[in-house]
Amino acid sequence: MQYIKYKCNNCGKYLYTYYEGVKKYGTAIGRCKNCDREYLDLRYREIDIKGIQKKDLSVLPYLIGIAFGVLAVWRCYYLSSWEDMEMPKWGHYIMLIFIGLLGVAIIVFCTWDAIEILTGKKKEKYEKKIEESRRRIRDESYMEKLKKLGYDFDD
Ligand SMILES: [Zn+2]
Repeated sequence: MQYIKYKCNNCGKYLYTYYEGVKKYGTAIGRCKNCDREYLDLRYREIDIKGIQKKDLSVLPYLIGIAFGVLAVWRCYYLSSWEDMEMPKWGHYIMLIFIGLLGVAIIVFCTWDAIEILTGKKKEKYEKKIEESRRRIRDESYMEKLKKLGYDFDD
């Protein structure tokens, strides 16, 4: 994953590290603690400008996650009868426990998220963020600031 370290245009103070493609919902305007100038925070997306991204309410990634989890657990079961001369027995057990627990954790995590999406609970959580965003962008001076700082409205 590519990342960029952002510094303040005005005073050069380190502000944040942005991982490409990773966006949270919130205000995209930050304020430099060092010089008090406002800056564009690429880590944030104003959710009400373009609405919720489809991928945020898609169960597909979670179904794939569950499949991976099942695969890991199955692999674990399969490997339990496998004898490896290169590895001591305790090492073998630790590896199996690790893979098994990881698989179960992935299944639980993904199932939980998938259920939240299917029952509409996830959308409710977003709605609160949308409401906050709507309040911000109703303010024309805020929108002007976003434009001036170069916010990507198509993103
Ligand atoms: Zn600054």
